[in-house]
Amino acid sequence: MAKKLLIYLDRLRDNSPGEPSDNPRPDGVLSEYPDRSGRKTIRELAVFRYTCRRCEDAPCIDACPADALDKNPEGIIRRSTNLCIACKSCVVICPFGTMMSDFFEHHRTLENYFDLSDPDEIQKFIDRNPEGVVSWVDMEEDPEKNIYRLNDLVLVREIDWESIKGK
Ligand code: SF4
Ligand code: SF4
Repeated sequence: MAKKLLIYLDRLRDNSPGEPSDNPRPDGVLSEYPDRSGRKTIRELAVFRYTCRRCEDAPCIDACPADALDKNPEGIIRRSTNLCIACKSCVVICPFGTMMSDFFEHHRTLENYFDLSDPDEIQKFIDRNPEGVVSWVDMEEDPEKNIYRLNDLVLVREIDWESIKGK
């Protein structure tokens, strides 16, 4: 079984680095992502796929003054980095705190991005995160443990809001 990178999104969120501009969270990038959004980071892809509650009326889309947000054919929110002006209106209006505001702090620079197609960069990405947030694992997707597949390399663990809703 090929090893995979497991990212604990819930731990990452709890380990807030403070002011993002002073101490931005590191992030991994996939090479060009095959949709209109251009380069995408692992965290942003994971959050929109697994944390977002996919509101029918999607207030984040309505709040965006730059028409940078829409839904893909699967109903997953996506952001066009070329259009986004980093105003964070979407962060403020989302009733579930889906987005981490630092998505928008450094999306125009590469200094905190690590290319996950390069093994050395992967190690740097692991080392730059707090201990226990990103690690190598020998496992596959396991929804019972809230571990989901993002792509061939990356698994993410996120709180399964559907399972706790109504409790
Ligand atoms: S931060 Fe970007 S995506 Fe969010 S509302 Fe502003 S322009 Fe739109
Ligand atoms: S408002 Fe928040 S939870 Fe609702 S669709 Fe937008 S990002 Fe997802």
